[in-house]
Amino acid sequence: MTRRLPRGEVGYGRDGPKLHTALFEVWDGRCHSCWQSKLFIDTQVDHIIPRGISDADLREAIRRHGLPADFHVDRPRNLALICGDCNRKKSNRVFPQARSYTELLDTALKHEREVIRLVRQQATANAVAKSLTRAATANLHDDRTRDAFLQHAPAVVRSLALLDEDKVDFLADRSFVLDEQWPVSLSLDACGRTVQTIVEKICGSTLTDVASDGLTDLVSRIKDDVEAAFHQKGSEDASWTPVDINYLALTVAITNFGRHGDHLKVDFKGTCDVEFIAAAAQSNKWGDDLVQLDAWGSVDCEFALYVTWNLTVGDNPYGRVTHTITNSYNSLEVSRS
Ligand SMILES: [Zn+2]
Repeated sequence: MTRRLPRGEVGYGRDGPKLHTALFEVWDGRCHSCWQSKLFIDTQVDHIIPRGISDADLREAIRRHGLPADFHVDRPRNLALICGDCNRKKSNRVFPQARSYTELLDTALKHEREVIRLVRQQATANAVAKSLTRAATANLHDDRTRDAFLQHAPAVVRSLALLDEDKVDFLADRSFVLDEQWPVSLSLDACGRTVQTIVEKICGSTLTDVASDGLTDLVSRIKDDVEAAFHQKGSEDASWTPVDINYLALTVAITNFGRHGDHLKVDFKGTCDVEFIAAAAQSNKWGDDLVQLDAWGSVDCEFALYVTWNLTVGDNPYGRVTHTITNSYNSLEVSRS
C-alpha cells in the first residue's frame, strides 16, 4: 500500500482545482450529502474515505468495501462533491454507516472515467472552454464578479438554448423539514416546475404540504413494520418503549403528471434513509429477573408517491395519496444489555 500516487495519474494532490471543476460538472453541482444544487464557490472536494485515515483503518476499509488492493484516497474513485456546510458537519460527526460509504464509493467509481477525462481535457482546452470554465467557477459572492456574470451570462444561455434546448433545463431545490426536524430535499426539473405551478395555481395546494403528508404516511408505515419486526425479536412478555426515529433523510422528485378524466395525478419518486431505536424489558430465560433489550433498525428504500386532485370540486383538495416501496434494504439488530 503506497501513500503516493504513481506519476502521471490524476489525483487530488496534483490536480486539486481541475478535479474540483470536473467533480462539479459530473455531480451536476450537487452536494453528495444534502443533494442541494450549489454555486461552485460553495462546494469542496470530499474524500469519501478520509485522507487522514491510518494505514490499519485503510486496510480494513479496503477489505470491508471490496476495494482494489492499490486503492488510493486521492484517486477520483474516492472523491465526491460536498458543500461547505455539509463538510463542516461531517468533520464533527462520527463515521457515517458502512452502507452510505459503499453507495458513495460506487457512485464515485461510476464517475471515475469521466472525471479523469475532464481533468485531462482541461490541460488542452481552447480559449472558449477556458473562459466558460472560469465563468462557471467564478466567485459569485464578489459583487463586481456577480454583476459581470449577470451582464454576460444571458447571452451564453440564449446561444445554448438555440443549440440545445434540453441543456438549459435546470433543477430547482425546495427543501423543507418533516415533523419540524427531518430534512427533505425536493428537486424540480422542467416537469416538476410545471407541476408546481399547476398545483399551486389550479389546485390551490402547495407541493410542500402534499409531499409532507405523503411522506409522513410513508414513514409511519415503515415505522410500523420496523416496530413489528422489533417485537418479534423479543419474548411475548416484553414491554417495549415506543419506536423513535434516530435519523431520517428524504429526497423526492416529481417524475410525471397527467389528467385522467376529472382527476389530475402527480407521481413523486424518492429515497428514504431512516434509523429507528427502541428498548424493551423482558423476563430472562429462568423467569426470575428482567433483561433489557436495545433495538436498532435502519431502512433504506426507494418509493413512489401518487397524489390525485379532483378538478371538478371547488378548491380542489387533493384526494388520495398512495405509496409503494419499490426497493428496500433493511437492517435490524436487537441486543441485550
Ligand atoms: Zn451539502
